[in-house]
Amino acid sequence: MTITVKCRLYPTAQQQEMLEQTLDGCRWVYNYFRNKPMSIYDMQFALTELKESHPWLRNYHSKMLQMVVHQIDVARSGLRVLSKRGKKTGKLKYAEECNTFVYNQTGFKIERHGDTDLLWLSKVGYVGEIRLHRRQPYNIKQISITRKPSGRWYANIVCEQSRPLVVPPINTSKSIGIDVGITKFVHDSDNHSVDNPQFLKKMLKPLRRADRKVSRRQFGSCNYKKAKGMRARLWERIYNKRHDFLHKLSTVYAKRYDLIFVEKLNIMNMVRNHKLARSIVDSGWTTFKAMLEYKAKLVFEVNSYNTSVDCSRCGNKVAKSLAVRTHRCDKCGLVLDRDYNASLNILQSGKALLGDGIGLPMGHGEFTPVEIAAQQQSLKQEEEAHELIRG
Ligand SMILES: [Zn+2]
Repeated sequence: MTITVKCRLYPTAQQQEMLEQTLDGCRWVYNYFRNKPMSIYDMQFALTELKESHPWLRNYHSKMLQMVVHQIDVARSGLRVLSKRGKKTGKLKYAEECNTFVYNQTGFKIERHGDTDLLWLSKVGYVGEIRLHRRQPYNIKQISITRKPSGRWYANIVCEQSRPLVVPPINTSKSIGIDVGITKFVHDSDNHSVDNPQFLKKMLKPLRRADRKVSRRQFGSCNYKKAKGMRARLWERIYNKRHDFLHKLSTVYAKRYDLIFVEKLNIMNMVRNHKLARSIVDSGWTTFKAMLEYKAKLVFEVNSYNTSVDCSRCGNKVAKSLAVRTHRCDKCGLVLDRDYNASLNILQSGKALLGDGIGLPMGHGEFTPVEIAAQQQSLKQEEEAHELIRG
């Protein structure tokens, strides 16, 4: 399994120029090959031959240029898949600018100089201070350097980490069902909830102001670029805030619980609801799940329907619109928060799946049996919890 660590880079003006030059080299290679009907091997061969007629290409790390060719190949196969599905596809566009280059396997090192870590790239040299927020990443497979529209530089460090072959012991009483939503980001089966911070929604006003500024400047002028940079920094801030929130929350769940059940969501279908689309995209549930998946011991996606309709105690169906926030069951008299009820349903159907032995944890190839005794004990605890709710 691979983990990507994203770090900010602080290049000096001179180093920044070198980085920009490298991006330009990538852009040239991309535009040269983008419409040539060649296989990846032919393109790679042509690239080495091209160095005869274009000796300046030798100033670039050759594996990095090969990665550009590789990216073209990946993009083309993506187009092929789309056209097979009956979608209309065009050709690869001319690249006005290139924002990322990749050093795969070779040509990079991170060195400690006094208090700072410096990133070194072959044919480029030292590209500035890199701020590592954790211990030095090891077993690095790839480093890609990105220039964001805001003008900031980042390094994405891909590290290989072996998952332990033996799954750590799992305490099934430490299991939880998580329901995600728009007003409350999560509501779990231990009746904890966290509000949805809605970072995009809060920034809509400044974003619109920044949009207006960009549209009022003369296209291509210096002030236009400045305004664009301001807008890009706003977007980046939203992204950073959201990711910070998601990381913190997923870490809490991964540390506290061994078995996590989440609902399977079809985001693409949900986004078709135009009234909610922005809030759904703003939430980042998919990112949250992906974070849980690599942080927690076991995460299961529960393919459950009617989690908000079914009564978690008796299974009676209580239909309600999105505006109704409380679940009231006429059959057994259960009254509790609508999302709490949904999360209990997720937990229950998750456990039922495990009991049948058909559930497959996300990211694990094989099913891990759980101790039935512990499971029964946790069910008993849940009964007690229900008693408390009744009382
Ligand atoms: Zn009921």
